[in-house]
Amino acid sequence: MNDKPEKLIDKKGVRLDGRKPDELRPIKIDVGVLSNADGSAYIEHGKNKILAGAYGPREVHPKHLALQDRMLLRCRYHMAPFSVQERKSPAPSRREVELSKVIRESLEPSIFMEYYPRTALDVFVEVLQADGGTRCASITAAALAVADAGIPMRDIVVACAAGKVEDTIVLDLMDEEDKLGSADVPLALMPNLNAVTLLQMDGILTVEEFEQAVNLAIEGCKKISAIQKETLKAKYVDVKEVEE
Ligand code: ADP
Repeated sequence: MNDKPEKLIDKKGVRLDGRKPDELRPIKIDVGVLSNADGSAYIEHGKNKILAGAYGPREVHPKHLALQDRMLLRCRYHMAPFSVQERKSPAPSRREVELSKVIRESLEPSIFMEYYPRTALDVFVEVLQADGGTRCASITAAALAVADAGIPMRDIVVACAAGKVEDTIVLDLMDEEDKLGSADVPLALMPNLNAVTLLQMDGILTVEEFEQAVNLAIEGCKKISAIQKETLKAKYVDVKEVEE
């Protein structure tokens, strides 16, 4: 990892892992993977491997945190010490505190929080293996875990990043592109409502490049959303077949 590659993208626009600029990493999603959770999902997004579990709606502890008019959504993003090459301290880092907040704020607009006053929904995200773009993959998995828990939602949030590597706007940056590239724009989307629930930017882009990156990220989100929905439907088709 310490050897810096000479070029992140070659003259033909081929990236280090062989992808074209507008190509996503391979994505595999599974739902209902944790039997003790009310809803759960597992995602492999490139080399990222992430588990999300949703617990609730349930009683709020401590009680004074309960909200009288809606559900309390709590999210925790955690990276396992073995998820990166250098051991990560198991203590919560500032980055994990930020990403927990970012995930919560991305999901909140999609959930009918007002249906469950004085209850809590806890969403735990465990990153087992990280390779850049874990916040987006975590949001994609967390939204599915909430859906799998049967919580009424306006839409299923999905997330993907785009950014700039050397002089090219690219979709779905992996770790090396994230670290050595010049900008990263993670975006979360409610695809049916066409509403953005997260937009961040790390790095420098011109206004035109920013627009290009946002549009590319939205396209990426739509492709991942199709995989999300297929996965969820497949699970419920299976359940129906068992019941018959
Ligand atoms: P995101 O995972 O959403 O892209 P960052 O941009 O903060 O969030 O992190 C980029 C990548 O850096 C992560 O996906 C992970 O591969 C790596 N990384 C993050 N924290 C650490 C850490 N403590 N040690 C080693 N690598 C890390």
